[in-house]
Amino acid sequence: MKFISQTRNCPLCNADKKSPYLSEGELRLVKCNMCGFVFLDNLPDESEIYEDYFEQTIYSKDYTKFSKEKFLAEIYAINEQRLYYIRKLKIKGSILDIGCGTGLFLKTASNYGFDVTGIDVSNVAIKNAREQFGINADRKLISDLNPSDMQFDVITLWHVLEHLVNPLDDLKKIRTMLKPDGVLFIEVPNLNSAKFRLSGRKWQGGNHPLYHRSFFTGRNLREMLLRSGFKTVKRLNISYNVPGRNFLYTKSKELFNIFAMDSFLNYIAKN
Ligand SMILES: [Zn+2]
Repeated sequence: MKFISQTRNCPLCNADKKSPYLSEGELRLVKCNMCGFVFLDNLPDESEIYEDYFEQTIYSKDYTKFSKEKFLAEIYAINEQRLYYIRKLKIKGSILDIGCGTGLFLKTASNYGFDVTGIDVSNVAIKNAREQFGINADRKLISDLNPSDMQFDVITLWHVLEHLVNPLDDLKKIRTMLKPDGVLFIEVPNLNSAKFRLSGRKWQGGNHPLYHRSFFTGRNLREMLLRSGFKTVKRLNISYNVPGRNFLYTKSKELFNIFAMDSFLNYIAKN
């Protein structure tokens, strides 16, 4: 593997003192001694990695353990519930989905009358979003976006922030792309989740040092959002109901989520 850096300062507080946290092969996760943020210390060359990411993770049966149909049914149910929470705050307007993938979320959003725009790093995903769903989507990075051109009522980051090399800088820019009363929705894997505590390095939902650069707890996600300039930062207590899951599983997730220990963290932030 090629690396673009072997070591770096904390992406949250910029401290240079850190301690080993977990390692997988050549990849080293470290924990900041100052703020406790867990991050990937040595950054692989992304140009090698993201070429295959989309195919390997999203549509690989080995990864999802489900059929594609069941996987899509879950995603559809989750996206409906995401829209339920968005519509509590914004009944209409424009949505930018950063990391829009094949456009499934934006397709659901457009069904509710939102004016939708997507960007993603994957050419294959963008082609799908445009051709299958007719979504206004482009192959772009956050660094390609120009805030003076685009202002949105809602911006969404569904499992994107953990992939970014400089999430604080990206959040500062994203903040300037929201209208004055706009809302940012974020969902990331939860380092404080019961699943990560029990299964650690084996937790497929969260531990991907090859793809994930940051490993969030509620506390340091809140800290990062405040540091990037947002005035209002709030956790949403969302436990997704997905088809085919039994009652006990669903109830246990709801219980964990009361203590912010479910697999994912959901936050909203406003200017
Ligand atoms: Zn730190």
